[in-house]
Amino acid sequence: MACPFLITLGKVANFSVLYPTLGGITLDMRKRFTKVLSFNEIDQTITVQAGISGPDLEEALNEAPERFGAKRRYTCGHFPQSFEYSCVGGWVVTRGAGQNSTYYGCITDMVLYQRYATPVGDLKTSPYPREATGPNLNQLMMGSEGCYGVLTEVTLKAFRYMPQNRKRFSFIFKNWADARDAAREMMQCEAGNASVFRLSDPEETSLMLHLYNVDDTPLHGLLDIRGYKDMERCLFLGFTDGEKGFSRNVAKNIRKIAKRHGGMSLTSFVTRSWEKGRFTDPYLRDTMMDFGVVTDTLECTVNWSNMLAVHEQVREVCHRLPNTIVTTHMSHCYPQGANLYFIFITKMHDHEEFFRYHRTILDAIQKSGAALSHHHGIGKMFAPWLKGSLGENAYNIIKALKQHFDPTNMMNPGGTLGLDLPEEQVIALDQPLSDQ
Ligand SMILES: Cc1cc2nc3c(=O)[nH]c(=O)nc-3n(C[C@H](O)[C@H](O)[C@H](O)COP(=O)(O)OP(=O)(O)OC[C@H]3O[C@@H](n4cnc5c(N)ncnc54)[C@H](O)[C@@H]3O)c2cc1C
Repeated sequence: MACPFLITLGKVANFSVLYPTLGGITLDMRKRFTKVLSFNEIDQTITVQAGISGPDLEEALNEAPERFGAKRRYTCGHFPQSFEYSCVGGWVVTRGAGQNSTYYGCITDMVLYQRYATPVGDLKTSPYPREATGPNLNQLMMGSEGCYGVLTEVTLKAFRYMPQNRKRFSFIFKNWADARDAAREMMQCEAGNASVFRLSDPEETSLMLHLYNVDDTPLHGLLDIRGYKDMERCLFLGFTDGEKGFSRNVAKNIRKIAKRHGGMSLTSFVTRSWEKGRFTDPYLRDTMMDFGVVTDTLECTVNWSNMLAVHEQVREVCHRLPNTIVTTHMSHCYPQGANLYFIFITKMHDHEEFFRYHRTILDAIQKSGAALSHHHGIGKMFAPWLKGSLGENAYNIIKALKQHFDPTNMMNPGGTLGLDLPEEQVIALDQPLSDQ
């Protein structure tokens, strides 16, 4: 049964998968746009209709020998936490990132070809691994969040499926600074990347060690004795993928760097616990809401050089609400930076309170100098901040494309990407929250 709080929230915020915001129709791509159109083992690509779900795509690739007569098994490499219920089309138009993105890349690294039905006609991008034929159309269309047209077909890269080569690891560091320095070195040392690469800050570490029952084991006491103190220590976990020797070497290198930064190995036990709930943990959200406990997530991208400042500033704002748990992790990492993912868990009484709090966090993210979103996209809730965040000139490119593809505003009207927001609802970069 749907949660009443969520329904109210959906109606007030004008976001819902059930109702088009301004009337008209809603397309459910999961009904008839779910086919695999072709599989090309020579190019290692798969072409699908946009409504195919994550599990159906992954199953088709895992079963490539049986289904397509392929020599090998393959994987899509894209596993967002919403994997079980999201579709390829949604991944692409919101510029999503799976939990294994540090090795496989985000969806924007995986797409070769897209086909859109737009109000001004059919649009097909070219299917090559790269080209230098003007601005990149594939990238321009990804992130359009349904405002330019309906994505109907996608060609994605396929990766060799070799789960037997996976090497799991987990380490505990004495503090956030040591852990962050270790993560940066792992990403910059050019020895290959882990697939899942996830570092929790002290507050999240405390919660995770509790959830994964480490608190009930002798390890808990050992950590204290060795100086890894609660609410200072940081948990780092993940696993490697790829060819056997590559995967082993990446794991070996991670171990070496972790040790150099004071990391203590917790073996693969914690990683396996995380894996068990990696897609299902969010199901708790609705149950918690039934008890008035609200949780939501906001995330952004930072460079290594401003990570500390963004982490501190955003968390300070989150913690202004008393009795709130605020956990933070990075889980999509690059040589030049990473995402920061904030989760709050708090008691709330109504949607007004939720929106007020949500706005303060978004505003703090924007003013801290981080990218407004690493992979959740913009939608309607983040839309008032987009123009201020990108700058007028850059934002006008998004608007000009909207004008080209959808001059009568048929596609996702009602605030997505801020495209039809009244000017007074647009929030400038330097605008104090009290004026908003
Ligand atoms: C619990 C939870 C965990 C999540 N974890 C992650 C994560 O790990 N990584 C991540 O990247 N995201 C995550 N998300 C966000 C979301 O699931 C993803 O952005 C996902 O890619 C959206 O896909 P969907 O099929 O659910 O799209 P929807 O939510 O149905 O649609 C998203 C937007 O895209 C538009 N759209 C969808 N399909 C098409 C199409 N074919 N053509 C044109 N427009 C279209 C819709 O109109 C809408 O504006 C999470 C969300 C939840 C609720």
